[in-house]
Amino acid sequence: MTHPSGRPIYMDHNATTPALAGVVEAMRPYFTEEYGNPSSSHAYGRRAASAVEEARAHVAALIGAGPDEILFTAGATESDNLALRGAAPAAARRLGMATGAGHIITCAIEHEAVLETCEAMREEGWEISVLPVDGDGLVEPGDVARAMTDWTVMVSLMMANNEIGTVEPLEEVGRICRRRGVLLHSDAVQGAGRVPLDVETLGVDLMSLTAHKMYGPKGIGALYVRRGVPVSPMMRGGGQEGRVRSGTLNVPGIVGFGKAAQIAMSDMAVESARESSLRDLLWRRIRARIEDVRLNGHPSHRLPNNLNVAFDGVESEALLTSLRDVVALSSGSACASGSGKGSYVIRALRGGDAGAARSSIRFGLGRCTVEDDIDLVMEHLERAVSRLRAMAPKAAGAAERS
Ligand code: PLP
Repeated sequence: MTHPSGRPIYMDHNATTPALAGVVEAMRPYFTEEYGNPSSSHAYGRRAASAVEEARAHVAALIGAGPDEILFTAGATESDNLALRGAAPAAARRLGMATGAGHIITCAIEHEAVLETCEAMREEGWEISVLPVDGDGLVEPGDVARAMTDWTVMVSLMMANNEIGTVEPLEEVGRICRRRGVLLHSDAVQGAGRVPLDVETLGVDLMSLTAHKMYGPKGIGALYVRRGVPVSPMMRGGGQEGRVRSGTLNVPGIVGFGKAAQIAMSDMAVESARESSLRDLLWRRIRARIEDVRLNGHPSHRLPNNLNVAFDGVESEALLTSLRDVVALSSGSACASGSGKGSYVIRALRGGDAGAARSSIRFGLGRCTVEDDIDLVMEHLERAVSRLRAMAPKAAGAAERS
């Protein structure tokens, strides 16, 4: 049996999501008749600018921020870079560090946009602490407090992990940061539109978002910057976005992002409950029908749409290949595949094993997932796992401990 569409089922919604029809519809006029540059003062420009401001208000509302606290960027990679490189040096200078370099705390399972930026800053003289996570992928808030020094200017902790779905204790970390006067940045890409987010409750000063993970277009993102937190520009030019992010605004993208935020706000509760119940059904069926499987990530503090499973003794790349005509899945980190080591996120789980890092699959459910998809995926998954285990019988159930 194959999917009625003739295409593989899409179950990789943590990688990206399709733009909703309502989003594309909202964007369309801004490619054609409403092509004004929002910086222009004539009627075309003013109409574009008012569409941008309407979208800004929707994105702000999604996270409980004010519209003046939202900066549009080209995506979360840029937002993460801007938060770290734009806000941390300004904070270091305020603390009187003449070099503009201080201490940043982050964690081992952050997205590469954070980890690589921190590594580059380390080479430039910054002190970087990369905290470990426990076996479920959680950062221990006490570790954050203990890592702080007089030079700490920022903690960068993701809201939820993109591979294993674990939701981090941001609110507790936010309280610690507030007490110590340290900025808290959070990459909230995976949670936005899926779970309620409120920058006040979380105590976050900077938050990275991207539209393409929440049924908006690709190439447009935002950085929330708490009022009064200075951010130095990474790109200079025409002075758009309060002089922090120069460049003509991507009006269709921004309008699409705004529409996606608006739709997410109205559908989130119902849609997240629907996806999490399908996700739980999938996990129950996997456990009932396939032996030697383990859940990666926290059993309850996790994104509603994410399931990440280690199939002991099975190479995830081989499993993905044998399923690819039926279902589009991923092993979690495209960047890790081919390295032979598997996912760095799963390797970072305390007590985790190298075998699990090479034998794990991420199931990312979404708006288009229905119960029939679960049946179809199970039918093929069960067969593929037993076929691959039969080809490598000695490896089955004997994951290599590291
Ligand atoms: N942060 C996280 C947690 C992600 O999952 C992604 C997506 O790959 C990114 C950052 C990068 O986002 P973008 O594709 O908008 O640059």
